[in-house]
Amino acid sequence: MISNYEKIAKKMGVPWSEEMEKILKALYSPEEAEILLVFNGPYLDRFDAKKIAKKLKRPIDEVESSLKEMARTQRLFSASKGDETTYSMFPLLPGLFELYFSNYERAMKEEKEVLELFTKEYEKYYNLGHVVNSMSSSYPFMRVFVDGKVINDTVERGKGTTIEVGQEVEQYKNKILHFEQVRNLVENSRRVSVMDCACRTHMKLHNDGVPVNDYPINVCMSFNVFADYCIENGFGREMSKEETLKTLTEAAKAGLVHTTQNMTEKTTFICNCDRDCCVMLRGIRQFNDPNLVATSNFIPEYERENCISCLKCVELCPMSIIEMVDDGSEDQLISINLNRCIGCGVCAFNCPEEALTMVKKYDKVPVENAMLMMTKSIEGRKN
Ligand code: SF4
Ligand code: SF4
Ligand code: SF4
Repeated sequence: MISNYEKIAKKMGVPWSEEMEKILKALYSPEEAEILLVFNGPYLDRFDAKKIAKKLKRPIDEVESSLKEMARTQRLFSASKGDETTYSMFPLLPGLFELYFSNYERAMKEEKEVLELFTKEYEKYYNLGHVVNSMSSSYPFMRVFVDGKVINDTVERGKGTTIEVGQEVEQYKNKILHFEQVRNLVENSRRVSVMDCACRTHMKLHNDGVPVNDYPINVCMSFNVFADYCIENGFGREMSKEETLKTLTEAAKAGLVHTTQNMTEKTTFICNCDRDCCVMLRGIRQFNDPNLVATSNFIPEYERENCISCLKCVELCPMSIIEMVDDGSEDQLISINLNRCIGCGVCAFNCPEEALTMVKKYDKVPVENAMLMMTKSIEGRKN
């Protein structure tokens, strides 16, 4: 007979394996596993304690105290509005993994063995390709976007025009749409919080506490209800919109890639991802699977006459697809393998001259909201 833990993995949409069994058993007691099975799937429903107690036929006080503890320890999502608190199930990603590892200091203090087991078994699970298989989709749930400074440069250099929300567009070519402009994502939000990046934290823990690279770590941003959850549970720091935009710019300067949900409205998180640890970027490199994140609509345009051959772009490109040309050719000093370009703009952001500009190449418009995004993403999965 299929166990409750296997049923949870199924609901989370992740492959069942001995690693996953160990992770779920360490994180959820048998009683907590029963609570999770009340939900139809991650983020699909929001139930209050009364409803969950009724479904389980258990006393409300007992169920409510388990729910609160699960929310406090990043095993269950909670959202409060006035006096009402509702709960939702997390998927493995984005949710359980990110929030648990971002707040690893709590786990280190309260449940060191669970943290160690999760760290070790997740890495094995990842290397077996299970995480990548569960995320890979012809419609990935995350998309890359270009930093605001790069967009400003594109406009200033006469290579694109910005279009605002509601503005009519007859032809998309060269038009930078509202969801492609980061200030719209930030300004349209109610609240922002920042926490440590879970992927870099996980890799650091797996590497005996030694960071595997020097990229900034306190750059993982949550918005609106997710910001409430992170701040109220004590591990997210509230940020002003101004600081949010500044932090994003600093992240791009360091060579990090901005990603967000593959939809146009009301984002709930923005990630700043690195090439070594990020579940998506590392996955593209390690498993040669491009379907882990949607590329932006931009590609870099190179102007040989402005290039001073500093090789900054070669050093920082997260996909390692820019090379120096050393065949004596005068036409170009670098070459870019655009077939593998994710359109992040890290190269253009960090080019000290005007030799690289991000220009619109595609006209992809994501779906509007989270429900449509999840549906398309699940439909587009291989498995
Ligand atoms: S690497 Fe990216 S996806 Fe992973 S937690 Fe950090 S910011 Fe989020
Ligand atoms: S060439 Fe590299 S750095 Fe530049 S946009 Fe493409 S992936 Fe990003
Ligand atoms: S960063 Fe700019 S100037 Fe430096 S090598 Fe690349 S394209 Fe040329």
